This record gives sequence, structure tokens and C-alpha cells, in this order.
Amino acid sequence: MKSLFLKDVLLNGTRTNIRITGNRFSSISTTITPEQDDEVIEASQFAIVPPFYNAHTHAAMSLLRGYADDMPLFPWLNDHIWPFEAKMTSDDIYIGTRLAILEMIKSGTVFYNDMYWMMDAVWKATDEMGVRACLGVTVMDNLGEEKLRKSFDLIEEYQEKSPLISMSVAPHAPYTVSDKLWVRSAEYAKQHNTILHFHLSETEKEVADCVAEHGLTPVRWLDSLGVLSSNCVAAHVVHVDEEVRY
Ligand SMILES: [Zn+2]
Repeated sequence: MKSLFLKDVLLNGTRTNIRITGNRFSSISTTITPEQDDEVIEASQFAIVPPFYNAHTHAAMSLLRGYADDMPLFPWLNDHIWPFEAKMTSDDIYIGTRLAILEMIKSGTVFYNDMYWMMDAVWKATDEMGVRACLGVTVMDNLGEEKLRKSFDLIEEYQEKSPLISMSVAPHAPYTVSDKLWVRSAEYAKQHNTILHFHLSETEKEVADCVAEHGLTPVRWLDSLGVLSSNCVAAHVVHVDEEVRY
């Protein structure tokens, strides 16, 4: 089997040698020397560090980089991003995801926790590029029941297809997901042992709107619905107070 030999790489403050055989670190030692079949990399200018895990992405949005920058969330979403996304094809999403993954690989990111649309295209890009990921299928009420059902079906269809890629349910945000759909998503996640990945408390407006509509902040509203648990990944969570419960 082909081996890589990293010579004189910095590991935890010490120069050492590392052999990688297949996809495993087969040896780490200051005393090992290259063998005949090793591809030797002179690594004295490099350090070896743990990889990055990106906890929240919309990978395909790499294509929208620089588009409608520096705007408040709601006009950005309503007037720019959602109309743009409505024109994106499955191919666009596939290509945008590949670009994002390429950048992740270059920066040492080996896993990403995504939330987007047309996740079959995202899955294909991820599988081809060989990184690990959890791919969140976005759900929100305005998709309508038929598309919602297809979204949940997609999670099941792709859940076991690759040992490197898992699927999750991703209710978009408190302002786009009804109490019924939150509960349905949380129950689905529990039954199917997936994580629940969502946006939460991103802006002051989201908090004010949620308090006006439900009498509770977004975090307390989701808690009152029984949605919050240890299998949740909440993204952003900028506007919260200091109450702590364990
Ligand atoms: Zn996001």
C-alpha cells in the first residue's frame, strides 16, 4: 500500500516523522526513516495539527460570495438571496458545493455540517470529493406538504448511502417554521437518530417578532415546544440572555 512519509514535521512543539499508510497514521516517531515505497515530503516548514470541523455551512452559497453584502438579514434574504436561490439549478448547487469543499480541503476542514436545498446534489459533490459531512435537508412551512414529505423522504433515502456522510433535518428558523413543523422535525430527528440543525436568535428583529407572536424569546419558544435537546445544532444564536439551565 502506498505510504506518505512526512519528514521533520512539527507535532506538539517537537520535530518528528510521520508515515501515513492508506488513510491511517501508521507510525509517528523521531527515529523512523523513509522506506523504499514511501513518498517523502520534506515537512520542516510545516506543523501537523488537528483538522477543522465546520459546524454550520450553506456550502453551495460559495457561488453567491460578494452578492448583496453588508445588509440586514431580512432584506438580504427576502430581496436578494431567496429570489437568487429560486433560480439555482441542481447543477449550480452541485458545482457551488464542490467549490466550497475544495476550499475546505485546502484549509484543513475535513467535515462540514450543511443546511441547504437539493441535498441530493450536495450529497453527490460531497461523496465525490471524499470529505465527511452531515447534510441538513431544509424544511420550512412555505414549501407545502408535498415538498415537505419529499424532504423527509430524501433524508431516509440518503442516510445510509455513505459511511462518511450522514443526513439531518434542518428546520430553517423560528420565523419560517411553525410550531407544528418544529415538533414534527424534532420527533423525526429523535425517531431517526439524526441531529436537528437550525438557525436561532440571529437578529434583534427575530427576537422581537417572536416575543410579539408567542410571548417568548426564540430559545424559550423552542424549549416550550420540547424541541431543544442534546442532538440540536443551533447556528448563530447571537441574541440571547444569560439564563442558564442544565
Ligand atoms: Zn445559516
